Amino acid sequence: MIVVSNRLPWMVRRDRAGVPRLVAGSGGLVSAMAPVLAARGGTWIGGADFCGQDAQLAAELCAAGRRAGYELRPLFLDEQERRGFYHGFSNEVLWPLFHDLTSLCRFEPSYWQAYCVVNRRFAAEVGQAATPGDLVWVHDYQLMLVGAGLRDMGIAGPLAFFLHIPFPPPDIFMKLPWRRELLDALLAYDLLGFQAPRDRRNFTDCVRDLLPEVKISGRGEHFVRLRTGSRELRAGRFPIGIDYNDFYRRAAAPGVVREAAAMRRLLHDRQLVLGVDRLDYTKGIPERLQAFGLALERHPELREKVTLVQVVVPSREDIPRYRELKARIENLVGSINGRFTRPGGWVPIHYVFRNLAPDDLLSYYRAAQIALITPLKDGMNLVAKEYCAASPDEDCVLVLSEFAGAAAAMAGAALLVNPHDVTAVADAIATACAMPASERRARMRRLRRGVRRHDVFWWVDAFVRAAIAPSGRPSGEVAGMPGALPPPRRRRRGPGEGNEGAPLIR
Ligand code: UDP
Repeated sequence: MIVVSNRLPWMVRRDRAGVPRLVAGSGGLVSAMAPVLAARGGTWIGGADFCGQDAQLAAELCAAGRRAGYELRPLFLDEQERRGFYHGFSNEVLWPLFHDLTSLCRFEPSYWQAYCVVNRRFAAEVGQAATPGDLVWVHDYQLMLVGAGLRDMGIAGPLAFFLHIPFPPPDIFMKLPWRRELLDALLAYDLLGFQAPRDRRNFTDCVRDLLPEVKISGRGEHFVRLRTGSRELRAGRFPIGIDYNDFYRRAAAPGVVREAAAMRRLLHDRQLVLGVDRLDYTKGIPERLQAFGLALERHPELREKVTLVQVVVPSREDIPRYRELKARIENLVGSINGRFTRPGGWVPIHYVFRNLAPDDLLSYYRAAQIALITPLKDGMNLVAKEYCAASPDEDCVLVLSEFAGAAAAMAGAALLVNPHDVTAVADAIATACAMPASERRARMRRLRRGVRRHDVFWWVDAFVRAAIAPSGRPSGEVAGMPGALPPPRRRRRGPGEGNEGAPLIR
């Protein structure tokens, strides 16, 4: 199996003496992919964040791959390629467009050229590594053209692609000057994976509008099938999960529990409302702050009784738009605190602008009675799932944007809100604060069950099984293929957890 992503799961960090060292990326995706790659034998191809001339780091990467049981193959991009492909087309065209923010797009033709060139370079690298019959799994919006590049090189497949971010509806997608080329390129894969039903629906609607010659069948089933000429491909939804057991276990560590209790004491046992986001305009942070201010205005009983802790993780601060967003957030925090703070006592918003250590993040999750997660649009939103996994007391509420991919499975148990409707969000905060403990527990229990069942190991398993299934049926017939997948990972169960078998595809 060959995995292809914009970045390798190893990055350069400087040690105390300032010497650059490679460190393994953490996070659910890496820990879920690694056992599959090691068991099937494989290669991970991705952009390196060090220079190709650095023989020491290249040797470290080779050794890291040997230890992990699969090959790590770096691709080196020069500064100009990176600027046009990554900062340009990926982050100034596809990222805002696919999050419905067309006014932020810069449809610069040179960006598209750079995107095509770099995607071809990735395809050439895959072409060198692949042997007949290898499954190639390409990740995310930066690399949508890799499959088409591989077909041009005569590679017969199987080729699979997963989009981690949303797919926009036709009226938005139509604005892209290279809309036909991009859609055509996606049809070169055998399997397309999307996060949520809306994304797959948007994709097929775009195909219907732009490529009417493509025959689409199977609406509402696990997969839709798209027939183009003599080829058939499938598009399915595979909502990505987290490593539930890892979060569950680490959140129960005595240090985390102690820190969470200390946090609550410091806040004088007021209800703690938590927001955790990367600094990005898709996350709806200013709208959320406005909603919190409005909640204090509309529901005076909340004053001095609730505190919002808003964690913002620094990101892309070299880009003016992100610097402006940061200034806007800080301005709003200042004006709401200025209006409501009681001297010598309550400060309504605590603002944290830094990357938290993993245990600190868990302490915030455990301490918070309410998570306020209101992106304007999001592929999935893992913070929502991590919060549930790290809340074993279950005495808490998730307020979630209906435009997060996570909402598809969490509707009914989370309080869903339209993040643009600040009055509705303000009222949802008040509802969450007043929710009886029995209802909080019942809702959170349901949420946790879903997050546990559809964890990141389920996700990898479901996707790979679908990718290697000739018929696309998500059943035991695929599981029968010898050596296809490693045996399901043994799950450590928490108290009260069920004993359900590993699910395949929802
Ligand atoms: N996170 C982090 N450092 C922090 C706070 C959060 O690394 O200080 C992580 C968090 O655990 C989560 C990720 O950042 O896994 C955010 O993922 P999400 O899907 O919510 O949003 P994204 O940033 O990928 O758009």
